[in-house]
Amino acid sequence: MDFESIERRLADIPCPVCKNSTEYMIPRDSRVTDGEYKAFCKSCRYSFPIHMDVESFTRSQPDVAYWMKGMRCPVCLKTGATLDFRVQPSVRGAVYFVTCTACQHPFFEKSSLEAFE
Ligand SMILES: [Zn+2]
Ligand SMILES: [Zn+2]
Repeated sequence: MDFESIERRLADIPCPVCKNSTEYMIPRDSRVTDGEYKAFCKSCRYSFPIHMDVESFTRSQPDVAYWMKGMRCPVCLKTGATLDFRVQPSVRGAVYFVTCTACQHPFFEKSSLEAFE
């Protein structure tokens, strides 16, 4: 995924700090480690990690891969999704941005899997 489409999809979640912004930017030089960047709220400058290296992540987290298989698309109601990227807006939980494998509808799920982090 490219930065522009990730920034567009981040607009689906409100900023956890100022709560009134859904606009984020990912500085291209904010790379923390391989596949990890920081997203900044355009309003309050709050930043949180964003993980784009989903391939090695799902490989090392079989429970996440299993969870993806059972995820239900809100549009076509079929199960099965692929992980596009994930963010960690607060310490309490991650948000997973996925794409339905059946109809290609993009949506997101809050993680209930934080025990694995
Ligand atoms: Zn904010
Ligand atoms: Zn679907």
